[in-house]
Amino acid sequence: MAVIGIDLGTTNSLAAYWADGRVHFVCDETGSPLVPSTAAYIPGKGIAVGRKAREHFLAGGEGVSSFKRFMGTKKEYTLGGKTYTPMELSAMVLHKLKEQAEGIFPEGIEEAVITVPAYFNDKQRSDTKKAAQIAGLKVERLINEPSAAALAYRMQYGSGDKSLLVFDFGGGTLDLSCVECFDNVIEITAVAGDNYLGGDDIDRLIAEYGCAQRGLDYSRLGLGEQTELLKRAEEAKCRLGEPGEGELSLTEDLLFEICMPLFARMKELFLHILEDAGLRVSDLDDLIMVGGSSRLSVVKRFLTELLGKEPVVLGDTDLVVAQGAGIYTGIRKRDAGIRDILLTDVCPFTLGVETFRRQGEKKGYLLPMIERNSTLPASRRERLVTLNDYQTAVTVKIYQGEEYFSRDNIYLGEVTAQVAPKKAGKEWIDVYFTYDINGILHVEIVNSKNEHNQILLANQTLGGAELERYKREIEVLMTPPLEQEENQKLLERASAYYEQSTGARRERLGALIQWFLAGMNSGRLYRVRKAAAEMERQLKSLEEADRQREDLLFDGDLKWDLDLEDLEDDDGKDLGNTGD
Ligand code: AMP
Repeated sequence: MAVIGIDLGTTNSLAAYWADGRVHFVCDETGSPLVPSTAAYIPGKGIAVGRKAREHFLAGGEGVSSFKRFMGTKKEYTLGGKTYTPMELSAMVLHKLKEQAEGIFPEGIEEAVITVPAYFNDKQRSDTKKAAQIAGLKVERLINEPSAAALAYRMQYGSGDKSLLVFDFGGGTLDLSCVECFDNVIEITAVAGDNYLGGDDIDRLIAEYGCAQRGLDYSRLGLGEQTELLKRAEEAKCRLGEPGEGELSLTEDLLFEICMPLFARMKELFLHILEDAGLRVSDLDDLIMVGGSSRLSVVKRFLTELLGKEPVVLGDTDLVVAQGAGIYTGIRKRDAGIRDILLTDVCPFTLGVETFRRQGEKKGYLLPMIERNSTLPASRRERLVTLNDYQTAVTVKIYQGEEYFSRDNIYLGEVTAQVAPKKAGKEWIDVYFTYDINGILHVEIVNSKNEHNQILLANQTLGGAELERYKREIEVLMTPPLEQEENQKLLERASAYYEQSTGARRERLGALIQWFLAGMNSGRLYRVRKAAAEMERQLKSLEEADRQREDLLFDGDLKWDLDLEDLEDDDGKDLGNTGD
């Protein structure tokens, strides 16, 4: 069974795999590996994902993109009258990639390795895993996008010892990673990122500039006008460097100036990560440019000024992360030649416990146990003393985040231990934190009597009924448009019969159509298929009967034995059991 690597991007997503000692990309029917991370509702056809969706969306149709920016949030998008979370939309994209990959691996996809921005928090990571689950993919490990890029760099530049900075500038995010390569180890020593700094922001700045030039206020335009303007700004941006003048007459120098506020934020992030990694600019051997927006020559110009030398471009900047993910699948499969590479990771956020300095204090402080950017797996022990006289128990509350007060961080769980009642400060507990490469946090408390209490906090995944429901929904949503068209034709044929008929026949046809529609809207693929098969059978029977000019009063050879209640009753049936 195959293992595939997936770059689930803000703008585009790709799948790659390792075979014959190199990376291959999974391409669509047009030969392109890029699947736009766009979902659209096409009237009469339903939900589409990828290229068709993007075309529909760009032509002004109903669609959504860039939803990765809101991964981990409850934001809802409406498509065809239904609402979807970023997690569900991502599941659709993953489903599409899986389907394409199954064209190459008919035996099925055993496992997927998915890349995520280095800055994604726990919730964003677990929602990515859930999206994969819904799409029917098993994901053992998520890897940071810049780690993947470092792998791709290593394939091209060899395994010498290097200090690298991966600059991943996409549509929605900027991710920086400091990477140390030595022997066969690739270690991320620091990560920093901004989920709200990407090519889309450049488009907005261009649009705002264009408006200001005409004495208009961009923020006061209608949504439709803004979208249109952003589209034109992006076109003008991507055309830069090509011959001919665009509508917005954008020049390199002008764009450089327009991007200044973004460059200022980039520089800040750059200095921040070097500080975290304990490096000076001169310690960096190379800076690797990754992501669609790294194609912009103004970005390269800015980085050259910042570094005092040219950054590295590893071929197509859109493909680098997927390439790394593809290489990683080779490592995962322990492929000869690359199996010895060890890819370590860092914890992208701080994990800690709540502590108090004084008795009666309302707001607790976060005591960091595992600092942001610690290499994984990471462990630490800390001894805490009692705060109140004669207290008999201590509850340790566990948080994730960078905020000073514990309650401003994300609460993860708690664990309680009994302690001997003594004067404040005279009794103690030891708190042990271990955070492993799969995102599992193990917290253990040991009191002075050597009694142990513990809690295991794993990245959440979906379970049982919830997962089944999501899976069924997506199966139906992703029913090939062809099938949807065929079902539409069945409905039209049945409706035509209904119109021609009268009396009992009309009544029964009405019931059949209603039953068929209930099946279509049930959200279950097997029901949709069952309803379609039954409708086909009934229509054939009717047509046959018509041809033979027989009595059409629904006895004879016409089978109206169908129990319409049937559909309501077989809820528990599993998609896998239908034989579809
Ligand atoms: P990504 O999220 O890595 O797929 O990057 C998508 C971003 O790259 C979008 O903001 C695009 O506008 C931008 N982009 C794609 N092609 C170009 C290009 N030729 N020049 C400048 N920006 C581009």
